[in-house]
Parts: sequence; C-alpha cells; structure tokens
Amino acid sequence: MTTFTALTTLPEKPSAEALGAALEALDPAPTGVGVFEVEDGSGLWEVGAYFIDRPDEIALALLAAVHGARDFAVSEVPDVDWVAHVRRELVPVRAGRFYVYGSHDADSVPDGVEPLLVEAAMAFGTGHHGTTQGCLQALDALVTAGEVKRRVADIGCGTAVLGMAAARIWPDPVIASDIDEVAVEVAETNVRANGLEGRVRCVEAAGFDHPDLAAGAPYDLIFANILKGPLIDLAAPMFGHTAPEGHVILSGLLNEQADEVRSHYQRVGYNPVSTLEIGDWTTLTLRKTT
Ligand code: SAH
Repeated sequence: MTTFTALTTLPEKPSAEALGAALEALDPAPTGVGVFEVEDGSGLWEVGAYFIDRPDEIALALLAAVHGARDFAVSEVPDVDWVAHVRRELVPVRAGRFYVYGSHDADSVPDGVEPLLVEAAMAFGTGHHGTTQGCLQALDALVTAGEVKRRVADIGCGTAVLGMAAARIWPDPVIASDIDEVAVEVAETNVRANGLEGRVRCVEAAGFDHPDLAAGAPYDLIFANILKGPLIDLAAPMFGHTAPEGHVILSGLLNEQADEVRSHYQRVGYNPVSTLEIGDWTTLTLRKTT
C-alpha cells in the first residue's frame, strides 16, 4: 500500500493548529495529521498529513496560502516496512563501556563491554541519538568515579536503554517510566530480550505521577532524557524524589538551551557536576547538595 505525505512549515503555533484542523476536512481525507514544533530553535512549526489516496494538491496549496505556510511538499512513500528497514541500517553504538546493538549484530559484541540489545521499534532510544549517547557516557563517568547507586529511576525511558544500562552495572532494581504506552510496551520487550526481567520495572506515567515511582523514592540516580520544557516542569518534583547527594542526568537539550536548564536546576537545589556536548545536544549531570 502506497502512502502519500504532505508536509509544510510555518512560524506561528495558532496558525499551525488551524492548518492542522483544516487538513482534517479535506477530501480525500488524511489518515493522520500531525502538528509539531520543530526542535531546532527556529521557532517553526511543522504540519503534516498522511493520505492513502493521492491528496488534492490544489486544495493543499490554497490551505497553505490561507494559513501563511510554505507550499506543501507532497511525496509518495513506497510500501516499506520501515522498522525492518531501519533495523538493517542501524550499526552498533559504543558509549563509554556500553555497547548498544540490534539482534542482527549479536555476533559483533566485543569482549569487555556492557551489552544492551535494543531493537529499532516504535520508541526512542536505539543509542544513535546524541542525547542517549550523552546519558550513557555520563553514567559511564559516574561508574568510573566509583559511584554505587542503589535506587535508580529512568524517567521518559523510551526503549529503557538507560534503565537497562544502570541495571547492567548495579545489582538493585531500576524503575523505568514513560508517558507513552507504546514506549512502555517496547521497554518491557527490551527488558526481557536482555534477560533483565525483575531488574527493570516499566510503568506508564507522566513525570513522577505514579505510586510505584513515589514508593521507590528517594532516588540516588535519576535519568531524564526529555525535552527542555518538560525538564523545567519536572525540576521541583525531581528534587523531591532525589536522595541527598543523589545525581540526576538530564538530556534532550539543544546546546544553546543548556545554560537555562542548568541555572533552573541550580535554583531548585542541584550543583552542576559535568556538561557534555554531542553534536547539537547537551547532557547535564547534577548533584543534589544535601
Ligand atoms: N530515555 C531514552 C528515550 C528518550 S526520548 C533515551 O535516552 O534514549 C524521550 C521519552 O520521554 C519519550 O519516549 C517520551 O514519550 C517520554 N516523555 C516525554 N515527556 C514525558 C513526561 N512528562 N513524563 C514521562 N515521559 C515523558
């Protein structure tokens, strides 16, 4: 089955949302419409629609003009099993002592690494993104410094790559959570594939809003690789859930957003420990003062 995509960008959120709503009313109707902020600091919004039947390009052009958007780029997407395709393309990633690989590379795992089997699937966290690598390297640095963490939480776990990495190092159980139920299912599959059942528990939660996350607190280490906005919103509850002298590893920040997030966390009561830039993305390690 062929799919068609129609994508455009425009500067204002209200216009982007209005354009998204107008797309729903097209004939032939789209099977899905998405409105997203482009996370590159440009302030642009992306509006996209997916169609089974070839969309009416004149109607799209009119809608774009009315809402002050660029012309839609319409593409025909061939019928490809994207997950299988991406899986074949993904090469293993080395971050500190960790080695993140898909099952097609199971034969390539070198000696002396902490292996993490993560399949490409409908969740973020195959190890290829600078934010995931930054978090794994930050964890590696804590381990090298001799830190031993008993209670660990992975907030916004995606594939659970970070929670599983911690569970490979320290013996105590880790709790991993995500706001997205599909991510939680993917996380549970990965936990089983890595033989970490009973060591990494996955729950669906927004931020810390889950009784199991409350019951496991205070945490000696919290990962949160989510975007700047949610990280700022989570600073106070994060502090409430961090043990004295506990660490947090934060990522999902563009390099130019790092100062603002670091200062915000300092005001809440954390001391900066390290800052790591990988490509456009920054990972912060901070420590609760007492
Ligand atoms: N920890 C993984 C995935 C990071 S992607 C890694 O480092 O690679 C960010 C994840 O956070 C997504 O799966 C998203 O669904 C989740 N997320 C976003 N906002 C959240 C929130 N407020 N609470 C919990 N999870 C959230």
